[in-house]
Amino acid sequence: MTQQQAIVMGGSIAGLLASRVLSDFYDRVIILDRDRLPVTPQPRRGVPQSVQPHVLFTQGYRILEDFFPKIGKDLQAAGAVPIDWGREFHYFNQGAWNATADTDSELVSFTCTRPLLEATIRQRLQQRENVEFWSNCRVIGLEGSAEGQEVSGVRFTTPEHPQTQIAKADLVVDASGRGSLAPSWLKALGMTPPPVTRVDAHLGYATRRYRIPENAHFPWKVMLIAQEPPDNPRLGYLAQVEDNQWISTLGGYERDYPPLEDEGFLNFARSLADSEFYDCIRQAEPLSELRAHRATANRLYHYEKIKLPRGFVALGDAVCALCPVYGQGMTVSALSAEVLANCLEMAQRRGSPLDSNDFQKRLARNNAYPWSVAVGQDSAFPSVQSAASRSNPFSSLLQGYFRRLLKLSHQDGSFHVRFMAIAHMVASPLSLFHPRLLWQALVKG
Ligand SMILES: Cc1cc2nc3c(=O)[nH]c(=O)nc-3n(C[C@H](O)[C@H](O)[C@H](O)COP(=O)(O)OP(=O)(O)OC[C@H]3O[C@@H](n4cnc5c(N)ncnc54)[C@H](O)[C@@H]3O)c2cc1C
Repeated sequence: MTQQQAIVMGGSIAGLLASRVLSDFYDRVIILDRDRLPVTPQPRRGVPQSVQPHVLFTQGYRILEDFFPKIGKDLQAAGAVPIDWGREFHYFNQGAWNATADTDSELVSFTCTRPLLEATIRQRLQQRENVEFWSNCRVIGLEGSAEGQEVSGVRFTTPEHPQTQIAKADLVVDASGRGSLAPSWLKALGMTPPPVTRVDAHLGYATRRYRIPENAHFPWKVMLIAQEPPDNPRLGYLAQVEDNQWISTLGGYERDYPPLEDEGFLNFARSLADSEFYDCIRQAEPLSELRAHRATANRLYHYEKIKLPRGFVALGDAVCALCPVYGQGMTVSALSAEVLANCLEMAQRRGSPLDSNDFQKRLARNNAYPWSVAVGQDSAFPSVQSAASRSNPFSSLLQGYFRRLLKLSHQDGSFHVRFMAIAHMVASPLSLFHPRLLWQALVKG
């Protein structure tokens, strides 16, 4: 089978990882991005969330290492801070801090800014000879057959050539993020757009970078003071990143948005359920403006429910955009790229092109768990709580059980590690239903 040309719309995390996979199967992979992609790590307009904090889960990091062996070394050389989430992540919930592990855990990754992570992945991908980056190219539509059965390329413009240009491809991958216009482009070709589900708990972030004070020593590299639905909508997240800096984020659900001026920001920090976040930042030197982000709704396009044309698939935030508090998006993108690799391998064995519908069905199964985590927790806030979830005694029972388990991790670091393994997507959530754990939760929790 010769697969000649694949086009990826969007050169951010999902697009980069999908391109890495495609480069094993296609002669030529072209990434089109509307931004001029920077050489050094810098926030950019096409990724407005790039100034906000980005947790890289252990599972996401492991997949990165699979795709780009020894990328951890590149990250560390660029200043990213290695972290053991069992020992060095401090988490305040239900009125207390979690105990942490005394010894090293296997839950490792890096804490760094989003631009540094993206630039490091991009540099590794640029080393692959059959991958091309077309910067400053804005896709404005899809090319397809009149009968609506095939996508055969994309239409795009550049600042130098505002008239429409066409690039042909055997496969077009939509990785253009939360604002993807692919559903309306499919419709314009006479195809059925996917149905959509939205769950919005109206979370807003405000983020600022600080210099970590000299001689300051903390047992954590990342800390989170969590929201407690339904009554407490506020959270604080503080993480060490490259260049001896903290990235500090306040969040408020239910439109309780953190202020964007100094005094208001500090007052909001002081109002968190514990004082440690405030104590850290109040005397630290601010290094940036306060930057807000409010596009945080959970939004899912159900591509698995429509009949897709040949030659088109979608992944990453373009399919499943999640509320960012749960830190899942980049890892979900990495897992999506793995699903793509599996489907391409199957197609290669069959000697046929990628089956778009089969891919989207497999991807939907993969996305179901992270979606349920984000939507399940956001639904505990009154503005999104549906009548169904309110009156579902099983879901209340489950939430009660998880709360008891989390309380156990206030005293016992091994529970913290167990929870982190699930949160970081390296262990199955079913492991929380081990009979010994159920017993401990009932007796001690
Ligand atoms: C506030 C916030 C905080 C987050 N925190 C975390 C976190 O802690 N951990 C985590 O794992 N994830 C986090 N995420 C999610 C994470 O940012 C995304 O899941 C991840 O970047 C994958 O997204 P993507 O590549 O699909 O899309 P994006 O990162 O949004 O990128 C889309 C790309 O497509 C390009 N593009 C768009 N339209 C066009 C077009 N028409 N033509 C050409 N190019 C186009 C854009 O320029 C951009 O490069 C957060 C998200 C937000 C909003």
